[in-house]
Amino acid sequence: MKYVDMHCDTATCIYEEKASLRKNHFHNDLEKMKKGDCLLQNFAIFTDIRKQDSVFTRNVIDYYYEQLEENKDLIRPVYKFDDISKNEAQGCMSALLTLEEGSVIDNDLSNLKSFYDLGVRMITLTWNYPNGIGYPNFSYEKDNYHALLHNINDKDGLTDFGIKYVRRMEELGMIVDVSHLSDKGFYDVLEYTSKPFVASHSNARKIAPVARNLSDDMIIRLAQRGGVTGLNYCSKFIDDENDKITMVEKMVEHIRYIAKVGGIDCIGLGSDFDGIGNELEIKDASGMQLLYHELQKYFTEEEIEKIFYKNVLRVYQEILS
Ligand SMILES: [Zn+2]
Repeated sequence: MKYVDMHCDTATCIYEEKASLRKNHFHNDLEKMKKGDCLLQNFAIFTDIRKQDSVFTRNVIDYYYEQLEENKDLIRPVYKFDDISKNEAQGCMSALLTLEEGSVIDNDLSNLKSFYDLGVRMITLTWNYPNGIGYPNFSYEKDNYHALLHNINDKDGLTDFGIKYVRRMEELGMIVDVSHLSDKGFYDVLEYTSKPFVASHSNARKIAPVARNLSDDMIIRLAQRGGVTGLNYCSKFIDDENDKITMVEKMVEHIRYIAKVGGIDCIGLGSDFDGIGNELEIKDASGMQLLYHELQKYFTEEEIEKIFYKNVLRVYQEILS
């Protein structure tokens, strides 16, 4: 079954090694994606703002477009919703450009438009640092990694600038992504926006109690807004006690739980491919149908279609049309 994936770090990985998008040793390359039946892959430009700046971000975007141009027989960019079906009709996969770290606009809202003009359609507001837009559920200021993973921040959310930022994103037609954001930030996004938003790569906190995952209440609020959370395949966020290898069975446990709490319309996929250090039972993008077969034990074909691509496409249609 075809799938849409809301998050991977492949663009930054191939830039750093000057590797090819078509064939490489990462989780995602075009051959593996094709084999896995990918319809659309979001490519996040991850920027570590303590080591890199917006020049780096723009350089990775340049490289991303060079790679799309070289491989336009297999994959093409998406700027508006209709591009997805056009690409599909021509036998091509689709690529959607996103930013993981919203502060690369250098505190200047007019740069938001310039990134929009470069094709960016989704922004993960923060990574793991406070950044002028808001605060994450994470603090490098603490020294204990266990504490970091469980550090829920329900006091610091969006800044005044962050509120202007998400409102401007909605005006431009960009999708707000709350993965990594603090719990307070999540509720601020809920308060200061009106359109559906996403958690591009976050799971259920009830199943894996780490701060990167969503509480039941957050899942319910996200679903009520018409948003979607994308299943993150990183073992720490799937099964924080057995985190050597991500098992498909455990991935499905999150999907079943999120569907139970928020309904079948709020769950999608957000692999975090090439941002994950651990081993995966599905190995890489080519193994995506293993997940499909496991889901068949619990869900109807129509329900799996929603999980694999229709829920995310519903949000894209609303924001990117
Ligand atoms: Zn991330």
